[in-house]
Amino acid sequence: MEENVKQRGGISVETSHIFPVIKKWLYSEKEIFLRELVSNACDAVTKLKRLGSLGEIEEDSTDYRVDVTLDPAEKTLTVSDNGIGMTEDEVKKYICQIALSGALDFVEKYEGGDDKNGIIGHFGLGFYSAFMVADQVKVITRGFRSGETVTWQCDENGDYAFIESESERERGTDIILYLGKEGQEYLSSAKIKEVLEKYCSFMPIPIYFTDFGAEKKEDGEETPINDVNPLWQKNPSEATEEEYKDFYTKVFRDYREPLFQIHINADYPLNFKGILYFPKIASEYDSLEGQVKLYYNQVFVADNIKEVIPEYLLMLRGVLDCPELPLNVSRSYLQNSGYVAKISAHIIKKVADKLNGMYRNDRENYEKLWRDLKIFVEYGSLRDRKFHDRIKGAVIFEKTDGTFLTIDEYKEAVGERTDKKCYYATDPVTQAQYISMFENADIPVLLLDKVVDTQYISLLEQEDEWKFLRIDADVAKALREGENADQEDALLENIFRSASGDEQLALRVTALKDPTVPAVLNCSEEQRRMSDMMKMYGMQGGMPNETTLILNRQNTLVSKLIASDDEDAKKRVAGQIYMLALLSQRQLTAQELKRFLADSYAGLEKEL
Ligand code: ADP
Repeated sequence: MEENVKQRGGISVETSHIFPVIKKWLYSEKEIFLRELVSNACDAVTKLKRLGSLGEIEEDSTDYRVDVTLDPAEKTLTVSDNGIGMTEDEVKKYICQIALSGALDFVEKYEGGDDKNGIIGHFGLGFYSAFMVADQVKVITRGFRSGETVTWQCDENGDYAFIESESERERGTDIILYLGKEGQEYLSSAKIKEVLEKYCSFMPIPIYFTDFGAEKKEDGEETPINDVNPLWQKNPSEATEEEYKDFYTKVFRDYREPLFQIHINADYPLNFKGILYFPKIASEYDSLEGQVKLYYNQVFVADNIKEVIPEYLLMLRGVLDCPELPLNVSRSYLQNSGYVAKISAHIIKKVADKLNGMYRNDRENYEKLWRDLKIFVEYGSLRDRKFHDRIKGAVIFEKTDGTFLTIDEYKEAVGERTDKKCYYATDPVTQAQYISMFENADIPVLLLDKVVDTQYISLLEQEDEWKFLRIDADVAKALREGENADQEDALLENIFRSASGDEQLALRVTALKDPTVPAVLNCSEEQRRMSDMMKMYGMQGGMPNETTLILNRQNTLVSKLIASDDEDAKKRVAGQIYMLALLSQRQLTAQELKRFLADSYAGLEKEL
């Protein structure tokens, strides 16, 4: 260390190992050094302002500010503030002792952890994070009551010295980083701007960025890079819809309007604030991954911290500022922290209250939004019993006719008629035949066309005696007119069994309410759910398909078939009816399709 040394010092042997650790291990999160230094600078200004407001110092007319300055020629990056500053003794105490032992604590935790990402957002590394990018750091500072400028410098081995100051400065602090090999990328303006934007966009003191290497803009009016009063700090009753939308666009760079938002403003005893937006989901395949940004007193910490925010809420977008979160602890600590559990519970309650309120007070609009909300609501209910309990009264279902109802309304509509069963379709196109049969019988059919729907109804079934059945699972029972076995039934069954080519075919003759349909297939609900699930997990379904062919005695074609004595014609017609029944329930196999086409052509030939 060169000239003008007033006093030398060195980091002790025990602590000197943190420098290489800081340099190498935290490689992936290098950029946080800027957050740490800029937030220290903001703190220094905030402290001074507080002294002013307490009357401890005379308030001056200074524009409080933090400056980040890049000098590519000198390879330096400087963070300056006009805050509280430090005296020489304070540098010794705060930088050489407190900051160092803080960094040491951090590194020990980090080194000891199995998971190198165990420390959320690498919060709390502090001043010494500068050595992730710098070979040498210089602090030029003047305490707010001190007449003297103090200059201290430290190299990457932890050797430091107080040196003569080249000139006097005003109250405040400059932290000058001499960027080393590891810090070269921070010689780029674009990189600095990107990092400032990510971490410092809402810090409470105006922050300005200057690049000495860039050409000076004419008439360049200075604008801070940050918004010192982020919307979440506002009282919800004073924020406008316009402001919420602008904030959303700015933070998430999404020009589609969010559906609505929830502004959380929890005071005592929780003390956290935030805004959560329900984004518009363009399609099922649109990413369901939202983004919830976590802040600590307006300092960005990290995105999507699942230890703090219940996982399913991460489908939303938003910001949460939790000034009381103990962030310099490990993830596993947070997972088990009572404070975090309380925050989660509070957020869940707010979300459920909002949805319940919309359901009660503005059902029309709620129904319009339901397609976008339902995946969130159903998934959340499956993941979290408490959320389920809070929200279940506001869950609605879309019917195949496009209208909506709740399960209670469904029950009321069908009364005793369905024997405690709710009917649903999964695909309005391939199940059209069944849907129209149910509609003709005036039994509402719910449209459950998402994977999560099936899991959600299983959840409802666990708590209720009502069961959910897909419309092809209970045709005979739901839509029959009357039973009464007939001596002709056995005859019919024989014809169809032989016409289908399947001697094991399960058959049932009944009188369906809808006389236009000669035959339909009925499939076991449990088996179908089981094989759907196996398909979902990519397993080959070895399950036999328990299907029954339901023949409708009320149908004219079937009556004619019974009455006819042309055995060949009977067999041909029965074969085609069987195929058409298959076709209205599922796609035909290649073999079936070939047979169906050949029989159809042969039938047509007979017409001429
Ligand atoms: P923390 O900010 O968590 O306290 P740091 O290691 O970042 O830990 O800093 C240690 C201390 O050094 C701060 O608490 C503060 O007293 C002092 N300090 C750091 N930067 C500045 C600054 N720009 N102005 C005044 N004091 C500072």
